[in-house]
Amino acid sequence: MRPRAGVHYPGSAGEFRSWFGTDEDCLDYLDWLRWPEGFGCPRCGHAGGWWVADGRYKCPGCGGRTSVTAGTLFDRRRTPLTVWFEACWLFASGKDGMSALSLQRSLEIGSYATAWSMLHRLRSVLVRPARDRLTGTVEVDETYIGGEEPGLRGGRAKGKKALVGVAVEVQEPRGFGRARMAILADGSAASLHSFVTAHVEPGSRVITDGWTGYQGIDKLGYTHEPRSQRAARARGDDPGGLLPGVHRVASLVKRWLLGTHQGSVEEAHLQSYLDEFVFRFNRRRSRSRGMVFYRVLELAVAHEPVRYRELVAHPKPKRVPPSPPGGGGHPPSMDRPRAHRPWRAP
Ligand SMILES: [Zn+2]
Repeated sequence: MRPRAGVHYPGSAGEFRSWFGTDEDCLDYLDWLRWPEGFGCPRCGHAGGWWVADGRYKCPGCGGRTSVTAGTLFDRRRTPLTVWFEACWLFASGKDGMSALSLQRSLEIGSYATAWSMLHRLRSVLVRPARDRLTGTVEVDETYIGGEEPGLRGGRAKGKKALVGVAVEVQEPRGFGRARMAILADGSAASLHSFVTAHVEPGSRVITDGWTGYQGIDKLGYTHEPRSQRAARARGDDPGGLLPGVHRVASLVKRWLLGTHQGSVEEAHLQSYLDEFVFRFNRRRSRSRGMVFYRVLELAVAHEPVRYRELVAHPKPKRVPPSPPGGGGHPPSMDRPRAHRPWRAP
């Protein structure tokens, strides 16, 4: 099934507001996303169940009760679902995403930490565990990210930068396909070989520069095409033009980190920002932002809950739960897809 705007996800901001006026609307939508064919027990696998008065499903097989959000990103949340959904919508509908500060302002919530942790939780679901590796012709290179502090030179500045592996599919006759990025321990053959095998399908043609760390990837099932920077210089060519795809992606991600996030990205969280960038880059041609919203929620309901403590390198004690959203009063929309809930008195 290919999800369609206006049927499976809201096609506009107006539609978004009319579908999700209350927490109950949001919960019903998550229910439908998680169990489109009706409830299936996550404990015993029994298909079918009863919606009971405590707002959970009861499994006739094992008798266990399951809430719609149990085991998802929204498990044991303190923030109302309507606020969560609005955050998801803003996260997905903006081409470049947003910083925690601008999310806090848009949601009109009192706590920066709440906005910050919502964005981090959303980022944490963006990497599908079994996602497909890159195929075809793929450029692979490394770049340093972060540590752009003027006045700091040598060891200190270098220590703050992270070495990041970049891989991009090259399309014929021109253009680029999907990308992948991961922080590398170093530029050794061991690190680079495992980056390539994790992100590129064997059988692909892999283009790299002449760095010795890439030697031997032909023995891992790839067609290796090293391009020598020295030879390019000798020919009078621009050595930076040897790998145009990875250089394009590397400059885009650096600009995004400095622009959307003002460069304020802690090293401990860099990988999750890279994941967000790659998620956006790989969906840059998606015609509907509502579709991106749908994909984020789909990943969120399939995801393990993320605890605040797992997100923060230095737990922030000043956390104020946001007040419930004002207004409300929207009638539940009849347009949006609805969960199928057979009900029985307990
Ligand atoms: Zn069960």
